Amino acid sequence: MVLDYLGKDFSYLKNKKLFLFDMDGTIYLGSKIFDGVLEFLDQIKKNGGHFIFITNNSSKSASDYILKLKEIGIATNEDNFFTSTHATILHFNKHYKGQKIYAQGTRSFINELKEAGLNVTDEFDSTANVIVVAYDNELTSQKMFTTCKMLTEVKTAKYYATNPDWVCPVDFGSVPDCGSMCFGYEKATGRKPVFIGKPEPDMINIVMQKFGYTKEQTVVFGDRLYTDIASGNSAGVDTVLDLSGEATINDYSESTVKSTFVLQSVKDMLKLYE
Ligand SMILES: [Mg+2]
Repeated sequence: MVLDYLGKDFSYLKNKKLFLFDMDGTIYLGSKIFDGVLEFLDQIKKNGGHFIFITNNSSKSASDYILKLKEIGIATNEDNFFTSTHATILHFNKHYKGQKIYAQGTRSFINELKEAGLNVTDEFDSTANVIVVAYDNELTSQKMFTTCKMLTEVKTAKYYATNPDWVCPVDFGSVPDCGSMCFGYEKATGRKPVFIGKPEPDMINIVMQKFGYTKEQTVVFGDRLYTDIASGNSAGVDTVLDLSGEATINDYSESTVKSTFVLQSVKDMLKLYE
């Protein structure tokens, strides 16, 4: 038996094949990788498993993340990532192919949508059928102005946002993420978006399908209850809350969202291979 933070035996996680990780607060904070992450990823590969980083952060593309992880010592390729931008593209290509989409986000986000063949503009357009807001660390008051004008004057356009996270961790604390930005827009325009990323189960379901794994073979690791753990629960897979990031054990006790297991950090997983 190997016990988790709450005294529950988690040894069967050793038999999992698809390991889905949140990034910030789960495998690193800023540019500092957590202890045991590299060893754990090696073990997964040795056992013929697969690891994928699932992130609600739409401001970076998979190629940006490949570089970032390389800097902290993790070798990856495009297949190791699934972002809320990927989920947004799949959704829009299915439902709004060829239709005009107004998007507010980083240049990287807008380029990814365009490269996927979507009809995107970042300027006011009264003919748009869709408005999408993403986390934007290049945000300007001009962009906020245009988005509010779109939301107010183009009432027929469906309104989406990439992810509902309230805050994005930075080295001194946090800055407003997409959820907070959309709350600001709601106060200004009265409109609420449909959120696409975690806690919706879609990102997890798409990745399981893509790589041919079952729910029983899959486990989600994350540090945020209302997104990471909630998405795993709604997809019906096992979840592990890591206390290395946002959620504390007190948050866990008070939350209605519960994970299958609680670990201090992913380093605890190494106990399974001793
Ligand atoms: Mg996180």
